[in-house]
Amino acid sequence: MNLKRIAIFGSTGSIGTQALDVIRANPDLFEVEILTAHTNDELLIQQALEFKPNAVVIVDEKKYEKVKQALSSTLIKVFTGEQSLEEVADFETYDMMLAGIVGFAGLKPTLRAIKNKKAIALANKETLVVAGDIIMQKAVENRVPIIPVDSEHSAIFQCLVGEAKNRIEKIILTASGGPFRGKKPNFLLNVKRDHALQHPNWSMGAKITIDSATLMNKGLEMIEAKWLFNLKPEQVQVVIHPQSIIHSMVQFEDGSIKAQMGLPDMKLPIQYAMAFPQRIHNNFPRYDFKKVNTLSFEEPDLKTFRNLAIAIDALNKGGNLPCVMNAANEIAVWGFLRNRIGFLDMTDLIEKTMNHVPFIEKPTLDEYLESDAEARNYAASMVHL
Ligand code: NAD
Ligand code: MG
Repeated sequence: MNLKRIAIFGSTGSIGTQALDVIRANPDLFEVEILTAHTNDELLIQQALEFKPNAVVIVDEKKYEKVKQALSSTLIKVFTGEQSLEEVADFETYDMMLAGIVGFAGLKPTLRAIKNKKAIALANKETLVVAGDIIMQKAVENRVPIIPVDSEHSAIFQCLVGEAKNRIEKIILTASGGPFRGKKPNFLLNVKRDHALQHPNWSMGAKITIDSATLMNKGLEMIEAKWLFNLKPEQVQVVIHPQSIIHSMVQFEDGSIKAQMGLPDMKLPIQYAMAFPQRIHNNFPRYDFKKVNTLSFEEPDLKTFRNLAIAIDALNKGGNLPCVMNAANEIAVWGFLRNRIGFLDMTDLIEKTMNHVPFIEKPTLDEYLESDAEARNYAASMVHL
């Protein structure tokens, strides 16, 4: 394999830092070309000095001088401002973008990379939730592979290797159930931020951890799966699997089910996406059937975890509804993390926003962007920012 030049968008996050761990362990396979961060200047500087990329972006303009100063003895180009994410996505000098920004902010730079015919290792599921049809169409037009990093989608992708001509009956997305599995609404009513941030199996960024606690994450993933694997909504099923050993499954038209398994460790799907189609050796801990010897499955509780029911509705109706839902959810999570609204209020906020923003059946990119803005404003007006 030639040395692959990677542009890590969101390098200071959970996915970004783990991608750098993979690169650090495989210097003969990967090289860092671009690093981007929102506000964490300290970590960005440290990463830049270690990996010596061609360019870095610190989105927060207040941090620009400090980053520039700290890297002044190097040849590393330093950019700032939201717009510069798209500017560096235009660079010729990288082979693959690792899309590790969280939320809607990841959409535009990823679209730019696709237009520039760069391979995408996609962690940022919100990009597909917001504008999955446009993203997948542009990827086909530009012959760009979109390789999922999300563990469930990586599992499905791995199960589909060698099955290009075979019909999928359905896919089964596994969900851990989050920290509140088995709880009822009267418990959730009083849940606080710090409790919701304790995920049983995965250590992740704050937004996805809250999404996992509300099961919105699984809803976003159903929509992500629909676009990635070109499925009908009814072909996407969710099953709760608390041990997080089976990362997801594909059922083919002969009834045969393939599963991809392993210990929960995001470095595995990150490494798989970056090295695809190759598998590379690592020393991550291995799953031992003698230690975790019970794998259990249950139905998701859609009455208690209404965010998942809402997301299934958005998946079925399509149009701009998933985009509106995503925007409202980002505001809701933001409000919850700052103790402005309660756990169950998040659902009400999302539902009200989905009822408020006019439905568009087949939105253009501009209409998606407008729907996002309108949903964000409306939801924010209810959080009293
Ligand atoms: P995180 O919060 O840990 O990191 C987010 C990164 O994005 C940071 O580098 C931050 O600087 C950057 N960022 C945040 N807001 C930004 C903005 N407005 N503009 C530009 N950059 C911005 O998040 P994470 O957990 O690493 O998740 C990243 C993405 O990967 C999310 O879409 C998440 O759903 C997905 N994902 C994460 C995991 C995981 O284990 N963490 C698993 C599956 C999927
Ligand atoms: Mg996932």
